[in-house]
Amino acid sequence: MQQILTFDECAFVIVLLFWISAIARKEHTTRSNRIMFRMLTLVLVAVTADLGAASMNNYVSGGENNIILAYLFNYIYFAAHNLLLPFYVLYVYSSIDIWHLFMNSRYQRILWWTLVIVDVIVLLLNGSFITVFTITPDVVYKRGPWVSVFYVVAAVYIAWVFIILIKYRKYIDRRKMTTLFFLFSIVLVGLTIQMFYSVMLVECYSIALAVLFFMVMERRDDNQVNPITGALKYTSFTERMTKNSYSMKPISLIFVKIMNNNNLHMYLGLKGHNEFLSFVTGQTHKLCMDNGLNDDIYYMENGLYAVVCEGTDEERVSRTAEQIMEKLSAETHFANLTVIPDVRMCVVFHPQDVHDAQTLFSLSTNFHRTLPDTKEVHYYRDFKDNKEYQVRNDLDEILRRAVENHGFEMYYQPIYSVKEKKFVAAEAMIRLNDPVYGQVPPALFIPAAEINGYIHDIGEFVFEDVIRFISTLDMDKLGLRYIEVNLSASQCIEVDLVDKIRSLMFEHGVEPRHLSFELTEAATDMNPEIVDMNIHKLHEFGVQIALDDYGTGYSNIKRTTGLPINQVKLDKSFVDMIDDPQMCIVIQDTIAMFKEMGIEVLVEGVEQEAVARKFSDLAADLIQGCELMQGFYFCKPLPAKEFLSFLEGRS
Ligand code: C2E
Ligand code: MG
Ligand code: MG
Repeated sequence: MQQILTFDECAFVIVLLFWISAIARKEHTTRSNRIMFRMLTLVLVAVTADLGAASMNNYVSGGENNIILAYLFNYIYFAAHNLLLPFYVLYVYSSIDIWHLFMNSRYQRILWWTLVIVDVIVLLLNGSFITVFTITPDVVYKRGPWVSVFYVVAAVYIAWVFIILIKYRKYIDRRKMTTLFFLFSIVLVGLTIQMFYSVMLVECYSIALAVLFFMVMERRDDNQVNPITGALKYTSFTERMTKNSYSMKPISLIFVKIMNNNNLHMYLGLKGHNEFLSFVTGQTHKLCMDNGLNDDIYYMENGLYAVVCEGTDEERVSRTAEQIMEKLSAETHFANLTVIPDVRMCVVFHPQDVHDAQTLFSLSTNFHRTLPDTKEVHYYRDFKDNKEYQVRNDLDEILRRAVENHGFEMYYQPIYSVKEKKFVAAEAMIRLNDPVYGQVPPALFIPAAEINGYIHDIGEFVFEDVIRFISTLDMDKLGLRYIEVNLSASQCIEVDLVDKIRSLMFEHGVEPRHLSFELTEAATDMNPEIVDMNIHKLHEFGVQIALDDYGTGYSNIKRTTGLPINQVKLDKSFVDMIDDPQMCIVIQDTIAMFKEMGIEVLVEGVEQEAVARKFSDLAADLIQGCELMQGFYFCKPLPAKEFLSFLEGRS
């Protein structure tokens, strides 16, 4: 009897296309995706074998080899086909996130294996004691009575899936439920038709249709892999964490941040960098697998990965995290270049350490800023009660409180003149006093304020407070030439910066020469044209300009010479290296160079007399040319009143 091949041919094309696309999109990184990919492979094998078997049936009418080939096709067909439903059961467990229930239930696993083994035994015994199918001498396929065992086994699987779907319907959103039901409804129809009309080979076609339907309906974010990184998209991470914070299923999270990702991108180019990102996913996944962890890897922009593992086997997770750190931090080669990734990592156990999704999101994106900037694997639990960590983590809120409730105060650190041997200026430094955490250092909150935009409110407070303070002083009597004010990078590009300063000075009757602005090299690099314009205008107006923290950036001489700079402040880290003979030469020449340019040199962070001596004309090994010094050796920053008493005590 001739069989109708058209359905099988269509099925083959559909399934082949999806199979290739699954490989091309690397969609085999999550467990659900892996099971789906295996099912797809099984369908492809089954359809191909069915097509082969049916072609033999239709076009060949004898020959021993043909009979053997027809048997082979049919065995492959049954084997692949019969494995589909067991995998479907696994897929349902995995996709509705109740995999642990299957793994923890011995009975369910025994039942699953028993059914698989029954199918295998029946197939293996075909022809010896029982008949599942035969191939007649004229190469025609004939069903045997034992084929019905396969149908019985299939019915058990189907009933099983029905029971799961009904029992755990709360876990499944409506769309997923419809898809899962519809999926085997199509298959069921195909199965029934073929059972009664064996010439119509619609069974594989119905499975292919189910696959097609599935791909259209079920391909949601939670299974979508970014083909470049091979990791899941980050949107699915937030979705999963939200779900997990309801179910409280124990999971372990390993956050990985490649700190020098931007540099790597620059050096490696787009293609090499993509290779690198996919390498990180691959290696991380491999290490998780090697340690027996079931992982899903998510990638967010900027070298940030989140690895989610089922369960909270702390020892295993820690071991894996250490290995990931070691592997990723090692020297590797991409695009013929040597690469050393700068990795930061943090491990979190849920729900023990964190139980709400919001904390997990913010931790995943901020941990590299809030936890210590060191290369060891950090454990969130070690930090959550630590005050400094809490401050770092709560900076937005701390800043909001300070801006709204006037939580800032200005301190002043006197600046010492080497030549005049007295204090001739001061630097204004902001202090933040928080009702919850107490004093918060500017090195923490200024960078945070630059990110969240509060820096402009802070700047306004600083200008107003310092200018008002200057207006109350008799600068000449105190021997003060000017007060220095720090300008952060984003303040330098404020449109109304100059007008604001000018009108404040007029309002308080302060002379421009009594004010000096400190810029950092980073600030001068940001939108250079606007910075140039603002700084030139301020300088023309009569205020002084100083370059702060010189020696910490990459000391762009071209930028320095292009700006009207009156003073350069050599950074503490630079000055601290004075005992290194090579560095001493650099410092000497730097000072000489600025002197020749008519720029005043100030040494920052002088803590010891020995250093002060080196830069003054008191010692034999003096470093000529430095005019000003500032540091704890002379005086720490003081509140306005104490600062005045300090000066008055010395005049
Ligand atoms: P900076 O402008 O380089 O200020 C010098 C910093 O070194 C100050 O820290 C000061 O207290 C500290 N310092 C002074 N002498 C010594 C010393 O002998 N040894 C050591 N180890 N440190 C010394 P502070 O006040 O914590 O400020 C840190 C940074 O925060 C400042 O670095 C500046 O960049 C920024 N900042 C401070 N106040 C303001 C402000 O009003 N506005 C802006 N935009 N930034 C500010
Ligand atoms: Mg400064
Ligand atoms: Mg400085």
